[in-house]
Amino acid sequence: MSNTKNTFTITFAIPYVNARPHLGHVLEWLQADSIFRYQRDILGKDVWLGAGTDENSLKNVQAAAKAGKDPQAWLDEYAKIFEDAYKFFGVELTGFRRGSDQQHHWPGVQELWRRCDAAGDIYKKTYKGLYCVGCESFYTEDELVNGLCPEHLVPPEVVEEENYFFRLSKYQDKILQLIERGELNIVSEQYKNEMLGFIRKGLEDFSISRSHKRARGIGVPVPGDDNQVMYVWFDALAIYITAMGWNFDMATFEKYWPADVQVIGKGINRFHSVYWIGMLLSAGLATPKTVFVHGYITADGQKMSKSLGNVIDPFDLVKQYGLEPVRYYLLKEIPTHSDGDFSHTRFAEVYTADLANGLGNLCSRVAKLASSADHTFTPAAKEELQDHPSFFEAMNQYEISTAAQILQSDLAKIDQQLNQDKPWKLSGADQQAALAKAVTSIQKVAFLLQPFMPETAKKIYEHFSQPKISALQPLFPRLAV
Ligand SMILES: [Zn+2]
Repeated sequence: MSNTKNTFTITFAIPYVNARPHLGHVLEWLQADSIFRYQRDILGKDVWLGAGTDENSLKNVQAAAKAGKDPQAWLDEYAKIFEDAYKFFGVELTGFRRGSDQQHHWPGVQELWRRCDAAGDIYKKTYKGLYCVGCESFYTEDELVNGLCPEHLVPPEVVEEENYFFRLSKYQDKILQLIERGELNIVSEQYKNEMLGFIRKGLEDFSISRSHKRARGIGVPVPGDDNQVMYVWFDALAIYITAMGWNFDMATFEKYWPADVQVIGKGINRFHSVYWIGMLLSAGLATPKTVFVHGYITADGQKMSKSLGNVIDPFDLVKQYGLEPVRYYLLKEIPTHSDGDFSHTRFAEVYTADLANGLGNLCSRVAKLASSADHTFTPAAKEELQDHPSFFEAMNQYEISTAAQILQSDLAKIDQQLNQDKPWKLSGADQQAALAKAVTSIQKVAFLLQPFMPETAKKIYEHFSQPKISALQPLFPRLAV
């Protein structure tokens, strides 16, 4: 592959479909979507954005049973809820693959298995371990917190059976090297160091199947063994490539794989930065370039939970405030790679300061001044729009929140310049020059705002790119208190 390639590939995590999407999902989708829009609309690349649903999991079966529903009907209903949710939040997926797709996904993941097997990396052994169904993962004693799963705070089950194992230990040095050399970039540093520490302790082979019985018949059959189905992570990780055409549309697969960036939450970093990398190396496939790790989101400083009654529903937020302000808040206010908080109070502060009084007010003011003076304006050249090293550096390093803050401080500077130039006190060529400076600066911010608020950005950009600029209705009405 040459480094002049004009494609860019992004994936985000493959969720279980045991409940409706929550705010943490939406944060991740919007982070991935902002990278998608940056690459496509600002850099002009041919971008592939893909995801899917993790359906061959006991968690889904348990959720269906609890609701008194047929498992397949449950999967169909919830996969649709997720697909609709992507649309609701304005996320345009290029590829989407359901884990229950027996036409494309199952043969694809079986082919991946065969390749790993052919490389001598799959073997059978009896295993006894502590298993958390919530995580679909084994834990060692020292990873538990007071004997409980660190993610779910429930005791793990003791499980013993004969399974297939993946020879991860064989790839320890190779994975370590990829990370150390930056060929596998883990963003940010703290997550990279966590993985380096985990690998240096020594990688153990991991179970990639379970008995048909324990899985209650759910899962992709292991090739050549009717008594075993694949471990849900082996199956789910493969969705990243089956969503792209692996094993049935190889032209598309070869065009877009490997992923430039895989966006995930901090709880599943190990699966992506270590296990998945080992599987790809074994199968002779290229490994992703970057694993982008985000943190978790709290409400009013507390973990969201049904029992606390503080769950923020992302659908309700959009109904209350509109999609664009919600996008802006999540992308700017939540630190991109660490935990962040949502509160209605903070939302109202950011909305008022940055959007109503900041961007909205500046645009109205400049549009009004430009419309009352009889000047003609020229749209800024592409080179001018793209000339912003600090913004591009932040976006290229996946510091999305920093990039949004840079644009916010640009708006403050445009405002200061305007107050200094006082075009309303000028006339003729002096007035035209002062207004043209403000108009061009607004065009530039609007162009770069596309990843954060695509509709608003387009509207502002188009409005200020006209030769004659008319007055502008307020972009962000005051919030009703
Ligand atoms: Zn767990």
